Amino acid sequence: MQRAVCALLLTLAACGPADDLDSLDAETTREVYGKADTGRYWPVIRQGDSNRNVVTAQYLLRHHGESLSLTGAFSSGMKSAVIGFQKKKGLWPDGVVGGNTWEKLIVPVRLGDLGWAVGAVQDLLLNRYAYGISITKLYGTTTHNRVTAFQKARCLNPDGVVGEDTWYGLVKNASFCTGGSSGGAAGVCYGTFTHPAPGYPVTSEFGTCRDGCTRRHEGIDIGTPTGTPVRAANGGVVVWAGWASGYGYAIDVSHCGSYTTRYAHLSQFKVYQGQTVARGQTIALSGNTGVGTGPHLHFEVRKGGSWGTPINPRYLIQF
Ligand SMILES: [Zn+2]
Repeated sequence: MQRAVCALLLTLAACGPADDLDSLDAETTREVYGKADTGRYWPVIRQGDSNRNVVTAQYLLRHHGESLSLTGAFSSGMKSAVIGFQKKKGLWPDGVVGGNTWEKLIVPVRLGDLGWAVGAVQDLLLNRYAYGISITKLYGTTTHNRVTAFQKARCLNPDGVVGEDTWYGLVKNASFCTGGSSGGAAGVCYGTFTHPAPGYPVTSEFGTCRDGCTRRHEGIDIGTPTGTPVRAANGGVVVWAGWASGYGYAIDVSHCGSYTTRYAHLSQFKVYQGQTVARGQTIALSGNTGVGTGPHLHFEVRKGGSWGTPINPRYLIQF
């Protein structure tokens, strides 16, 4: 069936053997899901959004000479400013702030600096992280002390310089505390997601045909024998654990960045609904419940909450 899809898409894109949708969507998904060329996943903001990250982008656009108000609402005027900025920086001018646009917007700030980029840091420290600080746009000793405190809490080098990693920590609410590929404190969500069943292979890709191609595979299958520990791909909260048609026993974990991960066909729960879990924590044992052709773990990633859009887990995790 995959071959049939491949033939259909041949006129549009080169068809790879593994995942047809990847080759078709490689360019657009990169910006949609916020992946920068450096590999970091930034929150995506676009026209219509209204949140703290929009304010941060507005401060940073001001730093780069674009004129716009610090409203926190992504208006059509802001979209024009983003497009103008993207053209100046040689980025694809789609007016959406994704990974590569974020990484051109951020600039290093340190003690003694003055300007809108400093204001962005102070605004995040005050309004997102509740550090006692005023938005003066002047990087003085108070700002330095708050930044180093933030860096220590996130296992960043506490040098008081807001460079790429510290910006990423601030904007994404990410921590760098493990250094390794798994582990961490309960509820702490990191910039990197990890394999939910380390050592076991992918047996079916995201986007492949199901039910005679009337629908797509919304996750990735991992070939786990029944009883394999299933691990949370990142820190977060178990928002649901129960039985779902087709999925069998399944668990949804909510993470930072508006991501939710689902683990399905389980044989046993190791956590309860509402529980805070750590990245790499065993949350269940895999099984063969629900509809399936044999024991495996169905792993799904959704962007925008439990009923958000399913995305290819390969954009977050190296399997
Ligand atoms: Zn599946």
